[in-house]
Parts: sequence; C-alpha cells; structure tokens
Amino acid sequence: MIVMKFGGTSVESTDAIERVARIVSSRLKRSPVVVVSAMAKVTDQLVAMGNQAAAGDCNAAIELLQALRERHLQTARELLGSKRGASLAPRLEGYFSELENFLRGLAAVRELTPRGSDYLLSFGELLSSVIVADAFAVRGLNAAWVDSRQCLVTDANHTRAVPQMKQTRERCKNKLVPLVSKKRIAVMGGFIAATENGVPTTLGRGGSDYSAAIIGAAVDADCIEIWTDVEGMMTTDPRLCPDAKTIKRISFNEAAELAYFGAKVLHPATLLPAIHQNIPVYVLNSRNLKSTGTEITAQAPPSRDTFRAITAKNGISIVNVVASRGVMVHGFLRSVFEALDRHSSPVDIVAISEVSMSFTMETKRLPKALLSELEQIADLAREDRQAIICLVGEDIHGKPGIAASVFNTIAKADVNIRMISQGASEINISFVIQENDVPKAVRHLHAQFFPGRTARKIATAKKSGTTNGLGRRRTKGTEISGVHETRASNGRAAAASRP
Ligand code: ADP
Ligand code: ASP
Ligand code: MG
Repeated sequence: MIVMKFGGTSVESTDAIERVARIVSSRLKRSPVVVVSAMAKVTDQLVAMGNQAAAGDCNAAIELLQALRERHLQTARELLGSKRGASLAPRLEGYFSELENFLRGLAAVRELTPRGSDYLLSFGELLSSVIVADAFAVRGLNAAWVDSRQCLVTDANHTRAVPQMKQTRERCKNKLVPLVSKKRIAVMGGFIAATENGVPTTLGRGGSDYSAAIIGAAVDADCIEIWTDVEGMMTTDPRLCPDAKTIKRISFNEAAELAYFGAKVLHPATLLPAIHQNIPVYVLNSRNLKSTGTEITAQAPPSRDTFRAITAKNGISIVNVVASRGVMVHGFLRSVFEALDRHSSPVDIVAISEVSMSFTMETKRLPKALLSELEQIADLAREDRQAIICLVGEDIHGKPGIAASVFNTIAKADVNIRMISQGASEINISFVIQENDVPKAVRHLHAQFFPGRTARKIATAKKSGTTNGLGRRRTKGTEISGVHETRASNGRAAAASRP
C-alpha cells in the first residue's frame, strides 16, 4: 500500500485533477490511498470569509462564498460531464449552504473561535476530495470517498490538533484496509480530522502532508508520496533563487530540519510518523508524470556540496529579556524558562548571557500573556519582521572553516546578523537576519555553496585555493567579519524528538 498526497496546486483546476488521475493510474499495482488538499487558495479564501463575517461584513463574506461555489461547481461540471456532475451538485450545494449558515451565524455573534475556524476550513478539503473521487470514477478508477474526520483522530487543540495514533491506527485499519483489499482507491481530504467525539479539527496550515504521513504510518504503507508543484525538495526555495536544484536523496533528519526551518514544501511535522516507522517519503512534481523528485530515507549518501540545502523562515520575532538589577542570574534564567514552559512557547533559537536572554519565536505564536509575565521580572524588548536562515547538512560536523565561510558570505552580501546558533543540532547552522534581507542573503549563500556546474569546474581546476568559483578571493582561516557572536543554542534539538 502507498499513500499519495496531492497539494493545492496539484488539484487547482480541471487539467490539474486530470493529471492527478493519470498519475494515480500509473500506481494502481501499489494499492494507492489518495490524500488531497483543498484547491489552491481555497483555504486562504475561507479564512478571509471567516474574518469578514466575524467583523460583521456578512455581504462581503457571502460574495466570496459565491465565487468559491462557482469555481467548484464549474470544475465538477468540466471533470464529470453533465450527468455525473448533476448528481454530485446537491452534495456540493449542501456544503455551500452549511457554509453560508455558518457565516451568517458568525456575523451575528461576531466571533470566530479556533473551534469554529476548524469547522470553517474543513470545507476546503471536503469539497476537493469529493470532486476528485468522482473524477477518478469517471476515468475508470475504482475510487471511494472516505471521510478523513472518521479516520484521523486528534486531541481538541483546535487549529493545530495533535494526532492520537492509537485510535487513528484502529480507525484506518477498519476503514481503509478493507477498501484496499477490494482494490478500491480511497480518496480523502488532507488537513482535516476530528476529536474522538467527532468535533472537526485541523492539523495546522499546510497540514495535508502531515495527514498523508499519519495515514501512511497508520496503515504501515510502503512509502508516502508528496506530489507538489516543484521537482522535489530543492537546495533552496526556487521562488527565492531560480538556480535552486533538486536534491536527489536526503536523510529524514536533514529534511525534518529543513521543513522546520521554513522549507514550505513539507509541513514541519510530516516526517515524524515516517521516521517512527521508517517509511520512505518521496517529494514529486505533479506537473511531470515521470518525476523522480527527492527520496527521503533514514540515511542518504553524502552530498558533494558542503550543505544539503538552505532555508528561510520569515515572520520571526526576537525577544530580548534583560534581568532587572539585583536579580540572581540562575533565578532569572529559571523564571524565564518556567514562563516559556507555562505558555507552551515553542522557541527556535536561544542566546544567553549572564543577565540577559534572547529568544526567537514565530510572531503569530508569541503569546501576549507570556510577554506580560516576562515584563514582571525583566526589561523586555521585542523586534518583529525577522527571519531565520538555516543551512543544513549532515556532513558539516567536525569540518573546520564552514561557519567562517557562511558568515563571510553574509558579510559580503552586506547583511547584518542578529543572532547565531550552531552546535545544538549538529546538522545545521542557523542565524537571524531582518526579513528584508532574506532574498539577498539566500542568493549569496546559494551561489557560494551550490555553485553551478561551470563554477564547480573552475573551482576544481583552481584547487590551489586562490578563488572560490565566483571569481572572488577566498578568505583564509576562521575570520568572521561583520558578525556579533553570542553564545547560542538551537532551541529545537534532535529533529526526531519534535512535537
Ligand atoms: P502544496 O500545495 O503542494 O502543498 P506548497 O506551496 O505547500 O505546495 O509547497 C511547495 C512550495 O514550497 C514550492 O512551490 C516552493 O516555492 C516552496 N519551497 C520552499 N522551500 C523549498 C525547498 N527547499 N524545496 C522545494 N520547494 C520549496
Ligand atoms: N489546505 C490547507 C492549507 O492551505 C492544507 C494544505 O494545503 O496542506 O493550509
Ligand atoms: Mg503544502
């Protein structure tokens, strides 16, 4: 059995869904279970509608809902033809009237709770999955729509629910395995789940990848395929740097580190279930039926390059906490860590000096209550619109001069570094810069560490060490320029232990 997940752009239109049907047809012998995201941009539109309705602008929300309705009905008509299209229409209309009722209710009470938000967002994947299931059937595939809310069981941590694997495994075995043994292709919505009592939940934005991995682990799949809009995991985000190259093979730990530090191509938690059961994961391009993409397994052969990839994670805040005069150092640090723990605050990078501590956290996850509590014990300063740049590679451990080379490159790009972390996780070097500087920093780093074939040849030819393939003089030793270094540690240690 294999699990195949198709992201939003892979099911964004009639053509895209037709391609998906062809890809799935090519895997029939492997007994696929198919997981789909909402059509591209639909989840964002549902969020927008929810916000408009909760702000009292019901008309704007309903207008947006009409556009969404048109798009889905038209795609269904194009894919299914008039007869089957007409038989699916009442089901789609049912979802739209539920949505409309919900939006009107929101406008009346003027509040969108996390629980309400999960209910609202679940419609994106419900709509796409029923359309895809019928589109498969029309194309001769023996498909069966399966309600993910009856298979994936989570806790009630709405908007970021945590899977309960024992119950999920049981439900998947009961619902999916019998279908697969009858050679049917289960088609399910990703991202959505439910509590044990059936209250809808979601796994966090981008969570369909995670759904695929959870289902893969629950049914002991042979592999998990993540089909997306790029040719696999790449040396950096191709939107930031067009020279990015596909990584053929990468280890679980490296890929998890990249996903955590901003490689949007995988939801950060995706690899945990796969690591747990040692299931290979492939990242493939749904626009290329012959895609070989990236293979992610426990071990990967060493890379020719120093690093495997570079990522950037935007939307970061730095919080500087400085002990008030007279506070004992150890007592101060303990209080800060206890406050972080009480608010379940996921810090990324931490830097500590005797009487101060700086940490980074995603701005949208920084609790106000935490900041007020810290203000009671220390002076607080906060800087928003920061980004973490992370360079990942299993082979960097124990090699001298690598950090120097990274920071020299950043200095040449004229970018200021705010915090540095190297060492806590042996496979990455990460540091914080301003969000504005991200494209420049990533491009310079990529040119330095992933030189094109020509540049690589020049570098090999000039092995004497006088140039670095970019025509620049190489720096010697461990000189670090333009960098203020702080003792720092990476708040997220081994990838496999992440929640
Ligand atoms: P999907 O809708 O298929 O889940 P996403 O938009 O969530 O797709 O993820 C794919 C996008 O991830 C790509 O279009 C690319 O811009 C971005 N991305 C960021 N970092 C990387 C990387 N290292 N390798 C590949 N893609 C990346
Ligand atoms: N549709 C959801 C989102 O946009 C989940 C996903 O696409 O993975 O976040
Ligand atoms: Mg995604």
